[in-house]
Amino acid sequence: SVTPIKVLVTGAAGQIAYSLMFMIASGQMFGPYQPVILHLLDIPKMADALKGVVMELQDCSYPLLHSVVATTDVQTAFIHINVAILVGAFPRGPGMQRKDLLKVNVSIFKEQGEALNKYASRGVKVLVVGNPANTNALTALVKASDLPPSNFSALTRLDQNRAQSMISEKVGVNVDSVRNVIIWGNHSQTQVPDVNHGYILNYPNRGLIEPIQTSVNDDKWLNEQFIPLVQNRGATVIAARKLSSAASAANAIVGHVRDWLLGTKDGEHVSMAVYSDGSYNVPKGLIFSFPVTCRNGEWSIVQGLKINSSTQQKIDATTKELQEEKETAMSFLN
Ligand code: NDP
Repeated sequence: SVTPIKVLVTGAAGQIAYSLMFMIASGQMFGPYQPVILHLLDIPKMADALKGVVMELQDCSYPLLHSVVATTDVQTAFIHINVAILVGAFPRGPGMQRKDLLKVNVSIFKEQGEALNKYASRGVKVLVVGNPANTNALTALVKASDLPPSNFSALTRLDQNRAQSMISEKVGVNVDSVRNVIIWGNHSQTQVPDVNHGYILNYPNRGLIEPIQTSVNDDKWLNEQFIPLVQNRGATVIAARKLSSAASAANAIVGHVRDWLLGTKDGEHVSMAVYSDGSYNVPKGLIFSFPVTCRNGEWSIVQGLKINSSTQQKIDATTKELQEEKETAMSFLN
């Protein structure tokens, strides 16, 4: 029989987790043969709500759900985990400055980095979702000095999924045939959606692989509308629903972790924010979203893509924002 995989979800009484853990327990993240032990962490104020979530998980009778550990204790939550999905973060309140938000989150992710270092399995894969996700991931990584930096990542997959779905609508093809759209940089307004290396697979009456640019055949839309549409999609959902895009965030988390552990398809890359090794002149040591391929549980940055000057300018801006966030976070750490 297969050994269960231990998966931690923080912010487990929150909105994203309420979609996410049902997807994990039903087998969507690790496949239909991999049993799961869920470790659920939230803050003491949420302990009762968390109990309710556990009841619902039990009531789903998922064959793959081996057991659930619901707790407000950090050590119990992080012990021997194989995957850590860090969703819980301090939300930006009305009138709250960016710096204040960073400060509270640095203290949360410092503690979680230390807990990963002390208690988690040495191969633990960490995905940070709570915002500011890239910099929170960096804070945790810095504090988990015994773990390799390649174990850490932040989520930009929702941005990628949004971009690919918008292209599929525009071209009129199934979203599955839209491949290799890239999100560069920070998971924030400065993120850089880039279709210049993407293609449509099996576009009717055209080649096997048709560039997105010629398939869309509307440069004005691509240059002026598409990028802000992707950047502002989260706000547009909130405006419509009066609640944030929690279900699509959960779906993106599942895609990110599944591809990381089980591998990307041949010829396909996905976007993950990972520890920069200096590729594309992005300063080493930033958590930056790159196109990656995954094999045997390891990601590698796709090399050699030619970046045009308008994309490069946007990459420079998102890089600058991440460097500033890093400096602020590190000043709070020290
Ligand atoms: P959500 O579950 O909706 O969101 C959690 C985090 O994910 C936020 O930082 C949010 O950022 C971020 N996020 C990233 N992408 C998205 C997206 N597409 N849509 C929505 N959010 C996104 O928040 P809730 O407030 O419902 O739940 C958070 C839970 O975390 C609470 O139960 C709280 O008690 C808990 N918490 C737990 C901690 C812990 O376990 N140690 C620490 C702190 C909080 P943004 O704010 O920018 O939307």
